[in-house]
Amino acid sequence: MSTLETLSFDNAFARLPDAFYTRLPPDPLPDPYLVAASPAAAALIGLDATELARPEFAQVFAGNRLLPGSEPLAAVYSGHQFGVWAGQLGDGRAHLLGEVSGADSGWEIQLKGAGQTPYSRFADGRAVLRSSIREFLCSEAMAALGIPTTRALSVVGSHAPVRREAIETAAVVARLAPSFIRFGSFEHWAARNKPAELRQLADYVIDRFRPECREAANPYAALLADVGRRTGETIAKWQAVGFMHGVMNTDNMSILGLTLDYGPFGFMDAFDAGHICNHSDDRGRYSYRSQPQIGHWNLYALGSALAALIGEPDAVQATIEESYAPSFEGHFMDLMRAKLGLARALPGDEDFIGETFGLLQQQHPDYTQFFRRLGELPAQVDEATRTAADAPLRDLVIDRDGLDAWLALWRARLGAEGRPDAERQAAMRAVNPKYVLRNWIAEAAIRAAQGGNFTEVENVLACLAKPFDEQPEFERFAAPPPDWAAGLAVSCSS
Ligand code: AMP
Ligand code: MG
Repeated sequence: MSTLETLSFDNAFARLPDAFYTRLPPDPLPDPYLVAASPAAAALIGLDATELARPEFAQVFAGNRLLPGSEPLAAVYSGHQFGVWAGQLGDGRAHLLGEVSGADSGWEIQLKGAGQTPYSRFADGRAVLRSSIREFLCSEAMAALGIPTTRALSVVGSHAPVRREAIETAAVVARLAPSFIRFGSFEHWAARNKPAELRQLADYVIDRFRPECREAANPYAALLADVGRRTGETIAKWQAVGFMHGVMNTDNMSILGLTLDYGPFGFMDAFDAGHICNHSDDRGRYSYRSQPQIGHWNLYALGSALAALIGEPDAVQATIEESYAPSFEGHFMDLMRAKLGLARALPGDEDFIGETFGLLQQQHPDYTQFFRRLGELPAQVDEATRTAADAPLRDLVIDRDGLDAWLALWRARLGAEGRPDAERQAAMRAVNPKYVLRNWIAEAAIRAAQGGNFTEVENVLACLAKPFDEQPEFERFAAPPPDWAAGLAVSCSS
């Protein structure tokens, strides 16, 4: 285990030529204080958990004190925002400190909100406490749900004012990922017609993260296929758990298939396939139901950027079609079968899963509660006790006859497997979380933190570290939005 002073850096990304980034130190924040830190994330980089409480920790992860061996830099990238080419973007408020070799492999540490960079355009390089707590909590919650994601080590706050719709205060999130390279990092060089840099970046990703692609006949097509498969898997996991990324722009799409850049994300409360989690997304480009299609669109943006490397004109399209959709659909079907308590794949499952979403769309039950409660129901009921047995689920809907009809189909499908109830129920509990980061939960923790009380952030972090476990002390976090949260909206403001 390391201390802050003994963390050792090996900055592979900084060994790429200067064209890929600008070296510059973070901008100090006055009087930084620790809001929260994740012991699980600290373990990834081998940082001793007792280090999190040191005053130096807040100084370091506010960007005020540089760790020996770090080489801070901001990376350049471009991208498509809301379907439109946006040109050069880049780390406008993120500083990569370097890469720490951790328990498994290398973890880059990045500070988000640590001041302006050459890529800040007209913005201030800062992030507010509100959005930083959301990113911190959600990164760690997603990891605990088994969804590929960047991680978050800490949130550090300061009284420094930041102007958004209102004046708020500044914060910095320390994020961890093997790499923060985005689809837009490749689009950047393709748009500038710089094939040498494009190749250099692709080679960097292959050599460091996907060496198996080197063995393929066309390594760059193999890389695209890898990204397609992983992106399909990640988005399938989002959909199954009811997570929505609010800004699926290509600059927010990780080349490693990680969930990246938490801004106006959401978890589904009452199910609605048309739900738009980002108040700034007025056309609903990134609605729940659109996300799989957008993943596909984004892969085409990446594919056209890589086309010059891949060479054969038809190969880009073929690679995407053979990787993304089959991966998404295969994972999504497997995940939904598991959520429904089905251990085997049978013909007709696709129709049944379609019926399930039809029911959810008609009745709008709370998505998380629906599956969690379904998992407790018996596979067999007699007519005399059925309504009592099914009451926990029937209480979530208005049209109970509609639900009863669907439950009859579900029971018939379970009957085709004959798994013992206890085994199936345990399996369902292990895949249907009881706790997800609902907006109201994040908001309650944020309001407390804005008032100087960080225990609720700690509580939410602790609860969401075990999303599948019953945790009676945190029962309140399993609830759908209370009345005060009815009008909550999250936007791109961060
Ligand atoms: P996002 O929509 O948050 O992914 O950000 C899109 C682009 O805007 C990225 O290049 C960000 O670095 C940049 N950006 C967003 N907010 C700020 C900010 N407050 N200061 C500087 N750059 C920002
Ligand atoms: Mg972004």
